[in-house]
Amino acid sequence: MYDAIIIGGGPAGLSAALNFGRGLKTALVIDAGEPRNRVTEESHGYLTQDGVSPAEFRKAAEKDALSYDGVSLERDWATNIEKTNEYFTVTTKKKQYTSRQVLLAAGIREHSPKIKNFEQFYGTSVFYCPWCDGYELRNRRLAVMVDENFINHMPMLISNWSSELLICMNGTGEISNENKELFEKKGFKYEESVITELNGADGEVKSITFEDGTTENIEGMIAMMEWDTHFDFLEGLDIKRGEKGEIETDQFGATSVPGLFTAGETKTNFTGQLINAAANGADVAKFMIMQLVQKDY
Ligand SMILES: Cc1cc2nc3c(=O)[nH]c(=O)nc-3n(C[C@H](O)[C@H](O)[C@H](O)COP(=O)(O)OP(=O)(O)OC[C@H]3O[C@@H](n4cnc5c(N)ncnc54)[C@H](O)[C@@H]3O)c2cc1C
Repeated sequence: MYDAIIIGGGPAGLSAALNFGRGLKTALVIDAGEPRNRVTEESHGYLTQDGVSPAEFRKAAEKDALSYDGVSLERDWATNIEKTNEYFTVTTKKKQYTSRQVLLAAGIREHSPKIKNFEQFYGTSVFYCPWCDGYELRNRRLAVMVDENFINHMPMLISNWSSELLICMNGTGEISNENKELFEKKGFKYEESVITELNGADGEVKSITFEDGTTENIEGMIAMMEWDTHFDFLEGLDIKRGEKGEIETDQFGATSVPGLFTAGETKTNFTGQLINAAANGADVAKFMIMQLVQKDY
């Protein structure tokens, strides 16, 4: 019986594990080893680790967390979680484990747009987060893929890194006359129709093609992605979710199921950065440990 099972060995899960070790509690990290950022070569914006490769970052984080006696890691997929009385049973592809608490630090499920060749460029010249990769894309001719919810925000934000923008709705809606006027004044191009294809070589996108066959040259892209936390392995738990399908938690990551917590992007239901996930994993772990200590006192 572990004090905690942590599903996910990203910055949130490993930072939590390190704190469990330092809090003299036992923690098992179950990690599939398929983080979202594996598609990219460099991670930016983490103080002391700027430019580190995701794989190197993970290796160092695992070394830190696993240096504590009570902490272990299994490279495996969690397939089900059940709560019986006071304890959790976590089933994986290979085994079954029990624990007093469970921390969901499995990140978010990411859904790419259905554009031919998108995956060839995602993580090298096509990104979604300007805070992570805007600097590397600075002053390039960029396509900015948005929908009606982000049309007023994203072009404005990305204009900080480049003034040569092609705003693309990808068939999700129309651009208002007001926005068309604004984009023209700024010298931005815009296109409402569906994007069918990206082309280029060696991870560098060179052009974008629309439904009507029109092609525009580009040197990078900021694309809106879709995310959720509807992991199959959560189906055995009755977790309260909010209007947008997000797992409801309090500020300490506690869900509606006593003993079940979330950290990192599973908690925010939105993408952030490594540094946010690591900081949050530490905070949530300390709260979880405090609950255990209080119970046993
Ligand atoms: C293309 C791209 C570029 C990025 N660039 C940057 C950057 O430059 N700087 C930056 O700070 N951030 C960047 N990010 C964001 C960063 O990767 C995330 O903010 C961060 O990894 C979130 O950490 P997390 O611990 O919440 O989740 P993750 O790092 O996603 O970790 C979740 C882990 O859970 C595992 N998991 C999922 N389901 C299961 C299961 N059923 N069983 C077992 N394990 C499971 C996954 O395999 C994964 O290892 C980038 C992301 C992408 C996609």
